[in-house]
Amino acid sequence: ESFVDMQLSREIQMDIQKHEYTKPTPIQAQAIPTALSGRDILGCAETGSGKTASFSIPMIAHCTNQKPLARGEGPLAVVLAPTRELAQQIADETKIFSQTSKVRTCIIVGGAPINEQRQMLRHGVEVVVATPGRFLDHLQQRNCNLQRVSFVVLDEADRMLDMGFEPQIREILTNLPERHQTLLFSATMPEEIESLANEYLNKPVRVKV
Ligand code: AMP
Repeated sequence: ESFVDMQLSREIQMDIQKHEYTKPTPIQAQAIPTALSGRDILGCAETGSGKTASFSIPMIAHCTNQKPLARGEGPLAVVLAPTRELAQQIADETKIFSQTSKVRTCIIVGGAPINEQRQMLRHGVEVVVATPGRFLDHLQQRNCNLQRVSFVVLDEADRMLDMGFEPQIREILTNLPERHQTLLFSATMPEEIESLANEYLNKPVRVKV
């Protein structure tokens, strides 16, 4: 399996090449085609496996397949991550694969000025990478319209639950439109993750490395 064999646009292929990713890692070889087919994913993978690209590449592909954002419309994709550092890494990687296609990404984390984040959200962005608490603050302040969200990623879900983010995650997921694709990644699969997946994922394909 190679990136060239995947059903990806020329623009994304160019960004992958430019970044010198020559061969997909095992998680990428499994998750990218599955996500491109529209299925939900329950992925068991650790940092270092290449899991970030395994969801950010199909996420950018999904965004480029949607009708452009109109004024006042909110994001097409939302990624939730446990920490600012991880959110930053995800946003950095996402930007690599959206250089040519010009998909816009913003990062919404605690400890950063809320006004600037509000401006970014109001200005319009296709992808939001966020920590759950701060993202929920923006939803409660009506700074972000979720109506067009159709792709959702929960990254390091076990860590998010360990940090006590379960109520915020549930609140966010409950407010999403009915029809959306969900990818959940976790290094471990305790019962709490299985039950979250049972509730919020639709017949997920299990991917494990
Ligand atoms: P991650 O597990 O997503 O944190 O990725 C671990 C590291 O591997 C990051 O520095 C990535 O840039 C790098 N990486 C991910 N996928 C590939 C690939 N297919 N080829 C080369 N490097 C990669």
